[in-house]
Amino acid sequence: MSDRTRYIFVTGGVVSSLGKGIAASSIGLLLKRRGLRVANMKIDPYLNVDPGTMSPFQHGEVFVLDDGSETDLDLGHYERFLDESLTRDHNVTTGQIYNTVITRERRGDYLGATVQVIPHITEEIKNRIKKFEKIEDKPDVIIVEIGGTVGDIESLPFLEAIRQLGQEEGPDRSMFIHVTLVPYVRTAGEFKTKPTQHSVRELREIGIQPNMLLCRSAKPLSDSLRQKISLFCSVPPRAVISAEDVSTIYEVPLKYYAQKADEIISKHFGWELPDPDMMDWEGMVEKIHNPERSIKIGICGKYVNLRDAYKSIIEAFAHGGVYSNAEVNLVWVSSEDIKQRGADKFLHDMDGLLIPGGFGERGVEGKIEAIRYVRERNIPFFGICLGMQCAVIEFARNVCGLKDAHSYEFYRELKHPVIHLMADQEGVTELGGTMRLGAYPCVIDKKTRTYEAYRDTEIHERHRHRYELNNAYRDMLVESGLTMAGISPDGRLVEIVELPEHRWFIGVQFHPELKSRPTRPHPLFREFVRASVKYHDEKRDRVLDDSDKPADYTRSTQ
Ligand code: GLN
Repeated sequence: MSDRTRYIFVTGGVVSSLGKGIAASSIGLLLKRRGLRVANMKIDPYLNVDPGTMSPFQHGEVFVLDDGSETDLDLGHYERFLDESLTRDHNVTTGQIYNTVITRERRGDYLGATVQVIPHITEEIKNRIKKFEKIEDKPDVIIVEIGGTVGDIESLPFLEAIRQLGQEEGPDRSMFIHVTLVPYVRTAGEFKTKPTQHSVRELREIGIQPNMLLCRSAKPLSDSLRQKISLFCSVPPRAVISAEDVSTIYEVPLKYYAQKADEIISKHFGWELPDPDMMDWEGMVEKIHNPERSIKIGICGKYVNLRDAYKSIIEAFAHGGVYSNAEVNLVWVSSEDIKQRGADKFLHDMDGLLIPGGFGERGVEGKIEAIRYVRERNIPFFGICLGMQCAVIEFARNVCGLKDAHSYEFYRELKHPVIHLMADQEGVTELGGTMRLGAYPCVIDKKTRTYEAYRDTEIHERHRHRYELNNAYRDMLVESGLTMAGISPDGRLVEIVELPEHRWFIGVQFHPELKSRPTRPHPLFREFVRASVKYHDEKRDRVLDDSDKPADYTRSTQ
């Protein structure tokens, strides 16, 4: 709609983990619903080229896009809130910026000059941000989220770059939104605005005056508190938005909307826009708040204490839950515990089990044991990537009788490597960005439960792996009852396995969680939750039936 692209820069202050990504996504959603073309991008101030080589402890989940780029988990929020698929241009890191500038320097592009952070690095940062203006369907507004916290040494070049951009575009075409914390000090019985004041002062020192504050707090901020923050930070009171804790992240845009944040932004840019239609979104949040029943799904993985590592899986379950009117309680079970104390102790009352993706051998035996347990007891099972590979190993060992079956990822000398290295991974020595990454097509067998979920014979799903089901064992697995439900179009790679005799037992080599959206749950998560709900209800009905039966007195009198 617009003449020229507008820029919204989102920074964070006081502490990390305030949910800047969710804030940026929520604003993006509201503006999109007002009819604008929105692009959300994230700038990460670390030196890794991408997060693909980082441990989940450092970084949380690596979010893989269709184009195969490994990106920050905030891109997951952008995709889910805006219901759009993004590209590698939407995530920029310090590593990428320096890589480009140094490559240019070696080529001689800057011949004669001293290459410096200002102007060369800042120039490249601005180029990356402005790249979107050059595409055909250029966005009306670009929301740029700066990772890290104001005051960090490493984010300084980015803050300087956005300061310059703000200057170049002018105040009518740029806007600075600062996400900050207003802590509640219990002993004093009040909210404290000082950290916010300091953080805004720090921003001002580098030449950035925020136009809006999103104040994270435990409870809604009173008007007098907003007035006070407004006064000290030179932000109009209306633009001091209370961003209190909410029970579901999908409520955040509704909170902003109620305080007219999107209207303030539109007016700032001189736009008269229709109100956003949030009916479906409100309906979804309403359903999350009022589930008809509650089920328990066990998740057995390595990083059970690190929820960020499984962000998209958690969200995909929330989406599936909405569809089935169920609250999905995820019970995190350590695979090491299962190995030591047995699966029954942890899984006996689960309505389903999910084994997520992963790398490395630690915990694998526990996962295999967990899979055996649910396979034998007909409890719904969903395996993702390593989870699917473990399911194949378990089946090969306990159904086909190949006691030594294992994955080549963990042991090189194996009698039965039922999972082995993909052919095109042989000889790969560099570890960054070299896995099989991104969206690939897969052909679905029509006679499967997988097809019932997708209702399509060709699908595209995102991958991140080096190993695959060993084709030398395919026939044996099939003869023993494991169905190859999805295969790559060239027939070489098994992408989906399922057990037709089982209530719901599906393993996928890809990561379906990356494509689930709140208003469009992923078909497999939707159906897995549905199967688990059904199993839950059946168990409950069985207990009710039993308690209806008259007591058996004969036995007690004997
Ligand atoms: N480690 C396994 C592989 O590389 C699985 C990867 C994953 O679960 N993402 O194939």
